[in-house]
Amino acid sequence: MEALEPYKPILPFEVLAENLGRRPEDIVKLDANENPYGPSPRVLEAVASYPYYHIYPDPQQEKLRKALSRHVNIPMENLFVGSGADELIDLLVRLFIEPGDYIVNFPPTFGMYEFDAAIAGGRVYDIRRGKDFSIDAETAIERMKSLSPMPKILFVTSPNNPDGGLLPPSALEAFLDLPLLVVVDEAYNEFSGADSFISWVPERENLVVLRTFSKWAGIAGLRLGYGAFPLPVLDGLWKIKQPYNVNVAATAAGIAAIEDREYYERTIRAIVSERERLYRELQGIPYLSPFPSKANFVLCDVIGRDARELKETLEEGGIMVRYYDKPGLENMIRISVGKPEENDLVLEKLRKMA
Ligand code: PMP
Repeated sequence: MEALEPYKPILPFEVLAENLGRRPEDIVKLDANENPYGPSPRVLEAVASYPYYHIYPDPQQEKLRKALSRHVNIPMENLFVGSGADELIDLLVRLFIEPGDYIVNFPPTFGMYEFDAAIAGGRVYDIRRGKDFSIDAETAIERMKSLSPMPKILFVTSPNNPDGGLLPPSALEAFLDLPLLVVVDEAYNEFSGADSFISWVPERENLVVLRTFSKWAGIAGLRLGYGAFPLPVLDGLWKIKQPYNVNVAATAAGIAAIEDREYYERTIRAIVSERERLYRELQGIPYLSPFPSKANFVLCDVIGRDARELKETLEEGGIMVRYYDKPGLENMIRISVGKPEENDLVLEKLRKMA
């Protein structure tokens, strides 16, 4: 336990606003890849009118899993839901990782895989991405084969957070030949235009695909994620999960979100088109070099000035972005895609600083 880093709390939104001397609605929050449009009116209505808040949730989540089954065209038996994709990552690690076991991680990437592995006493085998954030699958496979013991789980994110790049199908195909569980985290798939790998799951013995309602459905605060799993893995997950892991408000919201195609097609389209505009406009800012992204954020290399100062200056103006300074992400910022007027604001500030 002593080796674990203490948890760094994220300030509640209202507290953050107060610290910055602003009203929450005057903060442009582009630091956590949340969806600026939020849930659809039909989702809000479903949560407001849900009649059974005094009754515990369905531990099997039958209704939501049925809706999901139609949504992603996967048998309901292969689907499992959690309180965010985060909970599913945690459960997978608990199920597979004994102290000393390895997970494979492809940094720079999302931090929860190594966080959960550390809590379980696991070891993390890092295979670093290239400068363009791509994965050299052939070399990665050679390196994994030379490891002893063989890792138990490989986590790979597509589109990757923080750059937004996609995993090529050929790389996944090659990883699936290894004797380990391959977990593809597709939290941002809906913004990518790429086919989800979820359709591969029923055909494979060792593939898990994770998805979430936090991004496309705009309900990060309600905590709802899901995944498609091979049946033997699911046997284990059903045994170890908390019976009431997903709350009834999240379930009602999730079902309504799946049903409200029109709202979500429109808002996802708006985010994708703003991402492309943000990327183009960022290219015109002399001290920034943005990476092409298939997600709802754009990562930028900050050239010839301090990324932390840039982040702090934006923050003073009420604009929150994510700042990095770690291996592979030296002096970079990541800007989540906001509404057009929010993106205009951040672009205007950045231009003024040139
Ligand atoms: N995977 C990735 C790659 C993410 O970036 C995030 C959220 N930042 C998650 C999973 C967590 O999703 P959830 O909100 O469903 O727990």
